[in-house]
Amino acid sequence: MLYRLREAGFSTRVYEAADGVGGTWYWNRYPGARCDSESIYYNYTFSEELYREWTWSSRYPEQPEILRYLNFVADKFDLRPDIQFETRVNAAHYDEETKRWQIELNDGTSVSAKYFITGVGCLSASNLPKFNGLENFKGEWYHTGHWPHHKVDFTGKRVGIIGTGSSGVQAIPVIAREAEHLTVFQRTPQYSAPARNHPYDLEYIKRSKENFLEIKKQMRESQGGQPVEVPTKSALEVTSEERQQKFEEAWQTGGQGIFTSYYDITVDPKANETASEFIRSKIGEIVKKPEVAEKLKPTYYYGTKRPIIDTDYYETFNRDNVSLVDVRTNRIEEITDNGLQTTEAEYELDVLVFATGFDGMTGPLLKIDIRGKDGVSLKEKWKGGEDTRTYLGVANAGFPNFFMITGPESPSVLSNMPVSIEQHVEWIGDCIEYMRENNIDTIEAKVDAEEAWSKHCREVAEATLFTKTDSWYTGANIPGKPRRFLIYLGGGGAYRQKCAEIAANGYEGFSLEAASEPVTG
Ligand code: NAP
Repeated sequence: MLYRLREAGFSTRVYEAADGVGGTWYWNRYPGARCDSESIYYNYTFSEELYREWTWSSRYPEQPEILRYLNFVADKFDLRPDIQFETRVNAAHYDEETKRWQIELNDGTSVSAKYFITGVGCLSASNLPKFNGLENFKGEWYHTGHWPHHKVDFTGKRVGIIGTGSSGVQAIPVIAREAEHLTVFQRTPQYSAPARNHPYDLEYIKRSKENFLEIKKQMRESQGGQPVEVPTKSALEVTSEERQQKFEEAWQTGGQGIFTSYYDITVDPKANETASEFIRSKIGEIVKKPEVAEKLKPTYYYGTKRPIIDTDYYETFNRDNVSLVDVRTNRIEEITDNGLQTTEAEYELDVLVFATGFDGMTGPLLKIDIRGKDGVSLKEKWKGGEDTRTYLGVANAGFPNFFMITGPESPSVLSNMPVSIEQHVEWIGDCIEYMRENNIDTIEAKVDAEEAWSKHCREVAEATLFTKTDSWYTGANIPGKPRRFLIYLGGGGAYRQKCAEIAANGYEGFSLEAASEPVTG
């Protein structure tokens, strides 16, 4: 966004809480952290030169490599001089008199801006559940989403990990190899498929670079931001042998192939059950102790929590130094001086890892006191999350000249994030340029356009199984958070087209107010 606006001649300043670039890939340094989109599609595409200059080592690179990439981008485009690091935005208030945003920073200073854009991500507000007694724990404890910069040494230690989402599933096999003993505290078992990560061969990389424009086009037009074959068949219209073969091929290839095998996997409970049962049967084959395998078998609709890909996750439970505790039945009562007490036993621990996720979607935005017209905060407008509504996931009625990159009700986390980020960046950049060219002072979503978009999002989501599962997608992971599914499921390609049409129609659904004087940056 900085690059896009700076290139267009706008004076632009970025505020960043960390002391470096990278966002998610800056904070999530836990062992085993890696990307689960294929790396050749996990890129910016605004610069072909950048695409050609960077070479990924493998299909699913690890966090340090992705962070290196983001630093490479920041250096290549000389972004750092316009980024103020170690600075949090505490508040942003719209002043109706001046038609400007007043932005309060945590260093006590404030700045005034014509446009206020958030790039806070969907998963940056980490969730540390309130367990009694954590302050008394004598060992070390860490959250995967705020991992320290130094290496955490698990050698010879008794480690406990709470949480078996994507972060836990990635961290568990790596920690298990180092720790004396690892106890996994699992509340909900997860479906995971092998990643089968492998180094890229040079020919493959060469071809992808040569085909940059075609790959870019496919990413932008696709449903999920990666050129994946769109399934045309129902899981229920094929024979069980054909289905089994398809799932088996996906399992052997590794990655998200089961999720994208049939079009009705996340829509029809019976179709879903075929994929769910396939993975459960794999768990039964891999995990040697039947009672452990049973505990690891999920029952929710496969894919309605983020589908996970792993490296040796289920295999890790065959290790002698790993044990699994089901905290759904054997509840966590408190953290003690020496470990963790459940209703049935106390577990002595030297290190406790919280892989307990994030207050997703709205959490990062609501951490900032954002106030639009009449001093109404975003929190008030969204009724604390009971009535979160946006226009296109990018704008809000009552909040002129405020844009959210990958905000609630856009495709965001159910797409390949770099593609969705770029789409918003381009759209917002074009919009601000249009305003300058047409001497428009403010742009604001109309209430009825917002209502219609929000309703459309809900209708699309309600037609799927996603809303039927407790997950961070629905907000169910945060006690007391109103349940709302805030991801647009109509597909990234179709969404891009819709946004483009709205812009082409003079920003349909927005009120544009002409400026009395020429608009500058
Ligand atoms: P998550 O998917 O929300 O998983 C959190 C885990 O902590 C769940 O197993 C949850 O159990 C458990 N938990 C939460 N509160 C608990 C409590 N009070 N007691 C016991 N257990 C509790 O979080 P995440 O693993 O950090 O992943 C979040 C998202 O980040 C992913 O879905 C993905 O989008 C992204 N991510 C991506 C990658 C990648 O591959 N590139 C890696 C990591 C994260 P329940 O299931 O019962 O709630």
